[in-house]
Amino acid sequence: MILMPEVRDMCSVNSCGQYDKNWSCPPACGTLEECRRQVRAYHTGILVQTTGELDDSFDYEAMILLERKHKKNFYDFRAILAEDYPNLLALGAGACTLCKTCTYPDAPCRFPEKSISSMEAYGLLVNQICTDNGMLYYYGPNTLTYTSCYLLK
Ligand code: SF4
Repeated sequence: MILMPEVRDMCSVNSCGQYDKNWSCPPACGTLEECRRQVRAYHTGILVQTTGELDDSFDYEAMILLERKHKKNFYDFRAILAEDYPNLLALGAGACTLCKTCTYPDAPCRFPEKSISSMEAYGLLVNQICTDNGMLYYYGPNTLTYTSCYLLK
C-alpha cells in the first residue's frame, strides 16, 4: 500500500474538525514515516464497506446512522479477528469516537488498545485502494459508503 503525503495533508485542512484534536488523528497518530513503518509489517488485509441510501445529499440523519452502523460492525469484527490475529492493525473511517470527548492533548488516550485511526490519517487514498482491490468506492447517486480495513499478520 502506498501512503501518500498528499492524503495526509488533506487532514491538516481540517475539514472534519479533528486535526490536532484527537489522539487517533494527525499529528498525534504519528508521522507518515512512522505510519509507513507500521504498515510495512503487514502483507495482507481485509477491506470492508457499509453502504446505505440517502433521501438526498442533505440527509444528515441517515449519514450519521450509517456511520454509527459501520463503526459498530467494524469494532465488533475487529474483536473477532483479534482472536486469530492479535497484532492486526485496524484503520477505520473518521476519527476515533470511542469517548464523547477525546482527552487529547491534556491526558493520555483512555483506550489506546481500542482506539482506531482512519485510513486517511495513515495517508491511504481510499478510492484508489478500493479500485486496486476490485471494489467500488461510489455506488451511485444518493448513496454513501464508509470504507475501512484490517491489516493482518
Ligand atoms: S479512545 Fe478516547 S481518548 Fe483515545 S483517541 Fe479515542 S476518543 Fe480519544
